Amino acid sequence: MGSHVWVEDQELAWVDGVVTSVNGNEAEVETINGNQVTTKLSKLYPKDMEAPDTGVDDMTKLSYLHEPAVLHNLAIRYGIKEIYTYCGNILIAINPFQAISHLYDTKLMDSYKGAQLGDRSPHVFAITDVAYRAMNNEGKSNSILVSGESGAGKTETTKMIMRYLAYLGGHAAAEARTVERKVLESNPVLEAFGNAKTVRNNNSSRFGKFVEIQFDARGQISGAAIRTYLLEKSRVCQISEPERNYHCFYLLCAAPPKEIEKYKLGDPKSFHYLNQSSCYELVGVDDSHDYLATKKAMDIVGISVEEQDAIFRIVAAILHLGNIAFALEGEDSSVLEDDKAKFHLQVAAELLMCDLEALETALCKRNMVTPEEVIKRSLDPLGAAISRDGLAKTIYARLFDWLVKKINVSIGQDPDSKCLIGVLDIYGFESFKTSSFEQFCINFTNEKLQQHFNQHVFKMEQSVYQEEEIDWSYIDFVDNQDVLDLIEKKPGGIISLLDETCMFPKSTHETFAQKLYQTFKDHKRFVKPKLARTEFTIVHYAGEVQYQCDQFLDKNKDYIVPEHQELLSTSKCSFIASLFPSLNAETPKSGKFSSIGSRFKLQLQQLMDILNSTEPHYIRCIKPNSDLRPEIFENGVLEAIRVKCEGYPTNRIFSEFLERFSILAPEVLKENVEENVACKSIMEKVGLSNYQIGKTKIFLRAGQMAELDGRKAKLL
Ligand code: ADP
Ligand code: MG
Repeated sequence: MGSHVWVEDQELAWVDGVVTSVNGNEAEVETINGNQVTTKLSKLYPKDMEAPDTGVDDMTKLSYLHEPAVLHNLAIRYGIKEIYTYCGNILIAINPFQAISHLYDTKLMDSYKGAQLGDRSPHVFAITDVAYRAMNNEGKSNSILVSGESGAGKTETTKMIMRYLAYLGGHAAAEARTVERKVLESNPVLEAFGNAKTVRNNNSSRFGKFVEIQFDARGQISGAAIRTYLLEKSRVCQISEPERNYHCFYLLCAAPPKEIEKYKLGDPKSFHYLNQSSCYELVGVDDSHDYLATKKAMDIVGISVEEQDAIFRIVAAILHLGNIAFALEGEDSSVLEDDKAKFHLQVAAELLMCDLEALETALCKRNMVTPEEVIKRSLDPLGAAISRDGLAKTIYARLFDWLVKKINVSIGQDPDSKCLIGVLDIYGFESFKTSSFEQFCINFTNEKLQQHFNQHVFKMEQSVYQEEEIDWSYIDFVDNQDVLDLIEKKPGGIISLLDETCMFPKSTHETFAQKLYQTFKDHKRFVKPKLARTEFTIVHYAGEVQYQCDQFLDKNKDYIVPEHQELLSTSKCSFIASLFPSLNAETPKSGKFSSIGSRFKLQLQQLMDILNSTEPHYIRCIKPNSDLRPEIFENGVLEAIRVKCEGYPTNRIFSEFLERFSILAPEVLKENVEENVACKSIMEKVGLSNYQIGKTKIFLRAGQMAELDGRKAKLL
């Protein structure tokens, strides 16, 4: 009674109050906003009355490490525009959604250079500095992993890391600065082609990115490699309100008149691939300015004027392709719908520099191979539209891959570099009304990274325990290996089963679903939703996600229609032809099945191998809402805390502990014993066990601090 506590609140997430009475396992609480609430005792969290009003810059300084305390601390700091807070050596960054003056200027960079973590207020520069110094001093590669939901600020954070690394490892001589300039200017180029407005973020990256910055023996940037993951192809042909297609399409439509004329463009509203949503402009963004800025960035990263022309010709061609509409002819054939469609077909063929009739045939017809001959079979209008969209998506994806490759070649790799700093900016957990194959891959990535994170946090905890020479052997390691097995085990995991299904000609998404239900009926992490026929649920570490199998098979097939391949590989534009190297050269041998899922799994494994060979640093970005309520998914911050709570979440230097709690056993102070003995006596008197005494600190289990405070409150 009389205890200060946090109780759950519909609106505020958590509200503090005072316990007025306790009845069995229920308590009455009077909240500060004047309400009387009754809740279960187990739903109450103690409030630390000794916590400073301005919050703490490191969560591990909190006496109680639980959700309301953590969120309250972040909210206080956010209120005074302190967007960065540590949780041990993890940096938490809350998106301010506004420029905070001087937060990233050169003077500030100067002040973080060489500073110990914790000497200065928490900052992304501080973490980057630690990584850079560790690399220089220990000769070991480091990585910085930035995570968080869409719109949380990952990409902006990544850019600040890259800027700070360019500042630290930059060259003094102007002519030597090209490497770091190229590294920095790769961002606007990739964003123009790989970012789009979504519901969650006006500049949402639709691909994952790992940038590896290489350093020479003197600690100067000597090369870089950019790897990208899973560009969202479907956006090229399909968008919904209030989102946009990739930025480059709108930039090009806002290009100077000469270009508009050359590419026969016009109002974005006139293009099917853009007018499926009524959003064309972004607040605060000038597309015509950005078009020129993108070209300038392309200059810097080494994309020639001719290449730029080919690139934008392709972007324009895709818009024209999208306007080629089909109508039914006869029973099940298709023809161009009208003169408008004919016009766009003609322009698309001109821009792609391929034969007009061949383009039309490639869109509307398919070859049927019989033992005697090859017959051309007509597609119906829907089939032709699907064929057209498939072509547009393939061209776009190959263009994006080309850009990445080109940037890598242009920046150059340093074969002599022994150390690198990797920066990872990859999509956070996703769960939508209909989650499909893309979400499956994204969430798989997050499970992988979560495992890496858990292992890391666990290791860090262990090293603190080791330093203090306490026994930690029985602390459980929180693991998600079972979800990973469910997804990626070979054979037998979902990806394997999907590949098998794809290879079997008669399978459908229904047979795939049935196979999953059968195989995993007893798996703890797999649920068949009631009445489901083609849905399945995975119990991810962050929550349950229901996946819709409908398009898993199609989306998993890494396939280009041979007719499209043939058409474009013979384009008179050598740039375009080079995007479609002839079939036998690069694509896997005929009959050998290549799947997106398996390839992605391999890519992810390679990423994990690199990460495992580096010293990791974590930045968790948070997208705030008015009350900092965690979104559907508990975010990584709370997850880190959960890992910590498995061990000894709170520790105190002996003297601090005694100062706070000697009142519980005043006699021990008189005994003139060593501090650690005095601490032990207090714990014994209170009747708490399971704590640990280290060399300089006492380590408490979750809840013990609250118990001690509770005893103390009763005395006062
Ligand atoms: P994510 O990559 O996590 O989806 P972004 O990094 O694109 O999110 O951030 C979304 C938007 O939030 C940015 O376009 C920017 O307007 C704003 N933002 C993010 N971080 C910061 C920051 N540190 N300072 C100011 N604004 C920011
Ligand atoms: Mg992003």
